[in-house]
Amino acid sequence: MTPPLRLARGLRSARTRIALGILAPLGMLALSGLMLLDLRRDAWDRAERTSRNLLQVLEGDIARNFEVIDLSLRAVIDNLKASGVNEVSPLLRQLILFDRAVTARDMGVILVLDENGDSIIDASALPARRVNNADRDYFKAHRERADLGLHVSRPVISKLMGVPVIVVSRRIDKPDGSFGGVVLGSLRLSYFEGIFARVGLGPEGAINLYLRDGTRLMRHPLREGDIGANIAGASTFRQFAAARSGLFTDRSVRDGVERSYAFTQVGDLPLILNVALSVEAIEAEWRGKALVIGLAVLVLCGIAVALSLLFGRELARSAAMQAELARLSHTDGLTGLANRRRFDEALALRWAEARRSGEPLALLVVDADHFKRTNDRYGHSVGDAVLRGLGARLAGGARRPGDLACRIGGEEFAILLPGTDRGGALRLAAGLHAAVAGLAIPAAGIDPGTVTVSIGLAVGPEGPDDTGHDLYRRADAALYAAKEGGRNQTRSAPRPEPEAMRLVEA
Ligand code: GH3
Ligand code: MG
Ligand code: MG
Repeated sequence: MTPPLRLARGLRSARTRIALGILAPLGMLALSGLMLLDLRRDAWDRAERTSRNLLQVLEGDIARNFEVIDLSLRAVIDNLKASGVNEVSPLLRQLILFDRAVTARDMGVILVLDENGDSIIDASALPARRVNNADRDYFKAHRERADLGLHVSRPVISKLMGVPVIVVSRRIDKPDGSFGGVVLGSLRLSYFEGIFARVGLGPEGAINLYLRDGTRLMRHPLREGDIGANIAGASTFRQFAAARSGLFTDRSVRDGVERSYAFTQVGDLPLILNVALSVEAIEAEWRGKALVIGLAVLVLCGIAVALSLLFGRELARSAAMQAELARLSHTDGLTGLANRRRFDEALALRWAEARRSGEPLALLVVDADHFKRTNDRYGHSVGDAVLRGLGARLAGGARRPGDLACRIGGEEFAILLPGTDRGGALRLAAGLHAAVAGLAIPAAGIDPGTVTVSIGLAVGPEGPDDTGHDLYRRADAALYAAKEGGRNQTRSAPRPEPEAMRLVEA
């Protein structure tokens, strides 16, 4: 068989089809799983893009606002250094000092404090509103360190405005380099609240702004106690502090919600901004879809697999039934021996084998004697019992692997004996007579020796033209001779006369 033909036959075979019927849905299941994972990846990609974009926009806004404030502070310091500034009238000095002071959004105050922390110049009031900020951390920090540069404070309540602000400050040096005070600008926390609140984040989403030391400046949405809290020890903050910007997923120390965090440092400022989307929200839509698709595919694949298995079981059942039918079609119902059809097939087969091998094939045709009488005397069912007994004894006589005992008619049996010559067959026939003589049905009053059989024996092949049918005919003729000869005996078909002799006789 050529390979494509073999393949085609393989594919056609029921087993392959059932296996495909199971494997195909399983493959589909695996494919759907991969597809769902891909959809999940898409959901995450979208979420990450969104949070990065938000982060970029917010960072830009905050950095610009701080830059504006810082420019104002630097301008004040530069202008303070200009010669003669302190000699001019307070109004003129105000104009000179704050000429470049643009007002940043949500800007609070711009103040100059002297080395004692007293307000000496106020951008919004002349004379300056009186306040002392020597107690503030930023003031102490500038007093202690000349190189602090721009300082961003923790959230404080403004003494002049009474609202929460953060203070952005720079140190003022005297001409000799010693501490000369501080210039500060305050920024209302409401500024951050305002820009954060404009952003839609989905359920459990959040925006946070931290100082580099872990102090939270603002959160959206805001809850009591959020502002000023320090989360420096949290695993999320450690990751914020480890890089300038990045993205990771972690559980919040604040509320235990798992979120995807996109974070960045704001410009060169000591500020960390993050946009956090809840994992639950990122995956919510996907989960809904995955559940529906997954369940549908699972159910469909389940049905397909179940149908394949069912089909397989039905197929196995019908194959078993066919095998049983085949067996029954070759079996005699009463005795359990091979039936006439099987005998015909076996005779043809054994005959061909005998021809091939040159071994003799012996055939015994066995007929119960006066069986009509047995039926008449004891009844048909006892007759059946006798037939069953005969069958068992004949089967017992045909014991070699190739031997076959058959019931070929009402009370007529045949035994095929491959590789057995006339002598062997005669001995076996004698054994059968003895076995049948032992048959008795005490309940019906049939004693041993009552049932007898006549046997016709033939052996072939006897020549090149001899056929299986000839063998049977000869055995049947011998049986007839046995009946004629008085029954309860075996007759062997006469050996054919040698060709030469027949020619002479003619
Ligand atoms: P002979 O010695 O010449 O063979 O005489 P016989 O009576 O055995 O031969 P005959 O052919 O005249 O009768 C055979 C009988 O076998 C007739 C029939 O009722 C009986 N018979 C055939 N098949 C069955 C069967 O399946 N069960 C029973 N109980 N009897 C059967
Ligand atoms: Mg008979
Ligand atoms: Mg008969």
